[in-house]
Amino acid sequence: MAELTKVGVVGAGQMGGGIAQVLATHGVDVVMTDINDEAVNKGLGAIRKSLDKFVEKGKLAAEARDGAIKRIKAGTDLALHKGCELVIEAATENIDVKHAIFARLDALCGPETILATNTSSISITVLAGKTKRGPRFIGMHFMNPVPLMQLVEVIRGLDTSDATYSAVMELAKRLEKTPVACNDFPGFVSNRILMPMINEAVYCVMEGVAEPESIDQIMKLGMNHPMGPLALADLIGLDTCLAIMDVLHRDLGDGKYRPCPLLRKYVAAGHLGRKSGRGFYKY
Ligand code: NAD
Repeated sequence: MAELTKVGVVGAGQMGGGIAQVLATHGVDVVMTDINDEAVNKGLGAIRKSLDKFVEKGKLAAEARDGAIKRIKAGTDLALHKGCELVIEAATENIDVKHAIFARLDALCGPETILATNTSSISITVLAGKTKRGPRFIGMHFMNPVPLMQLVEVIRGLDTSDATYSAVMELAKRLEKTPVACNDFPGFVSNRILMPMINEAVYCVMEGVAEPESIDQIMKLGMNHPMGPLALADLIGLDTCLAIMDVLHRDLGDGKYRPCPLLRKYVAAGHLGRKSGRGFYKY
């Protein structure tokens, strides 16, 4: 399969914006969409801010930044993805939202287009099953923040073809990432292990085992983690953490994945972490 040179990104949030940025700085033409102008502009603003930081730190030339920005077309209509060789979906972690996006993309993209999802936990095979392109459907799970994190977890659905897998692995390497393959199970590897740890940290807060600052400090200093689990949960987004725990709990059917009631309460109150200005910490 030829190199992928024109890639769509659906969702201009922290992940979609990050993926678009990394594609564009590596010479790939990008089309990024979201549901309204406000979300699109917020995404573009975050990309510019991040690229400026790279330039300030001397890690990116000003011309490279300007070239990357020019390579990103953005808008609110999924039809803009027509003609893309690959479309990566990075919208909200909700199966109905993702099904609706893929139904539309499946109808409007050419038969050769690969559809990928950045889902944190939802089954790749289930999402692919609602399209007519199982062989050209795959999971491409980037880590947050995308411009800084090395890993892309690549998840094959039941029918994903070798050609699709190879094309996506090649692209991830071209983006200077390290792709690692795994099979399609709830939460894959990364979130099956990470999320129960975060959930347990929330139980520690709820049961008064320690203050959030102390929990994070114990995990940072004691386990050599670069960030404590509660600060990480705030970075990921508490709504996303809860959505992932709900998938693990339902799809693995084991009570050990029960989302902590305090996590549910924070989300209900709109305390979603960094993106809402308040989670376990205030921003
Ligand atoms: P986010 O809340 O920052 O952004 C989600 C974006 O999707 C929003 O801008 C929203 O307007 C948009 N959106 C919602 N419905 C849409 C639709 N129908 N069409 C187009 N856009 C739509 O969330 P995020 O953290 O960027 O997460 C996006 C995806 O990436 C989720 O599936 C999440 O599980 C996954 N993910 C998140 C992280 C993380 O650390 N936050 C890491 C890896 C993967």
